[in-house]
Amino acid sequence: MKYPATTSEGFETFPSITPSATQCPPWLRVGFALLAISLVNSVACAKGPVATASTTAKADSSAAIPAPSEAVPDHAPLPHIDSKRAFEYTREVTAFGPRYIGSENHKKLERYIFDHLKGDQVEDDAFIADTPEGKFPVRNILAKFPGTKDGIIVIFGHYDTNYPLRNSGYVGANDGGSSTAILLEFARYFESESQLLHGKKRDGYSVWLVWTDGEEAVKSWTDTDSVYGSRHLAEKWEKDGTLKKIKALLVMDMIGDADLNIDRNTNGEPWLLDLIYTAAERGGYQSHFYGRQGPIEDDHIPFFKRGVPTADVIDLDYGYNNVFHHTPQDTMDKLSPKSLEIVGNTILEAIHMIDQR
Ligand SMILES: [Zn+2]
Repeated sequence: MKYPATTSEGFETFPSITPSATQCPPWLRVGFALLAISLVNSVACAKGPVATASTTAKADSSAAIPAPSEAVPDHAPLPHIDSKRAFEYTREVTAFGPRYIGSENHKKLERYIFDHLKGDQVEDDAFIADTPEGKFPVRNILAKFPGTKDGIIVIFGHYDTNYPLRNSGYVGANDGGSSTAILLEFARYFESESQLLHGKKRDGYSVWLVWTDGEEAVKSWTDTDSVYGSRHLAEKWEKDGTLKKIKALLVMDMIGDADLNIDRNTNGEPWLLDLIYTAAERGGYQSHFYGRQGPIEDDHIPFFKRGVPTADVIDLDYGYNNVFHHTPQDTMDKLSPKSLEIVGNTILEAIHMIDQR
């Protein structure tokens, strides 16, 4: 594993990302502003020496954390997930082993996801991706829960694991595992909601859960070697008009870390980022949100670029200095059901709030 030498002069050494040919983070440039610390540390993800370009950013703690929201007189019990079950899903998904595109385990996981969606309105978005390592079958899996309001809330979570690390013992418990699992748990939630309504539409927007594929770069992260499944869906939905119906698109990624710190990814829609923070506040979870902020590239980017309101819910501080990210140490022992609960409940509340907008 290759560690970064130093950051640029004049910047605090937090947080350094560890880019290398095989441990390339799934975003080309990552910058953060840490509370009370002024920095933006951009990291290029490429082979060979890493150029660390830097720009300055004002230390602005108020930028990361929205002002406390007005107390909302909403005394309805907050929606909640079953965190034990969500954690068990994470364990089962991770137990498949490496799940990179083109692998047998990847196919097994597809079947596992489909098996868990029996009775749901499921769609298969399969295609062949042209990558720097050749052609691969890529498949987004969708579960749709229709709503009474005209519009769609889309939740993404990628299920593929890092391709360059395929022979390293890397299993992606957090990066790939947690995102797959939280969506399975959301499916359970919306299934039971539907049962309570005796099969009637949910009272709000339609919710589409999408297990995205090919999020990871096969060589190193570029606009064309990354987010294969998401790019495919964005193009397709632009053509068929679906894009215009999306009220919000939320991405779940690396949300299982026991030491949970969800970053405010500034590649996102400000009102939606603020809404998520308010949802977190309602659950008393705000200390796990937005301690840092900066632009991160992830599955939402093809939609963000097209003007869809997006928010990437990600904790890119996985182990100090993000040391477990894209390493064989990304294992179940680093994760906690509590973190899945914090994110899961916050997102369910956020959906509830978007429904009421
Ligand atoms: Zn990754």
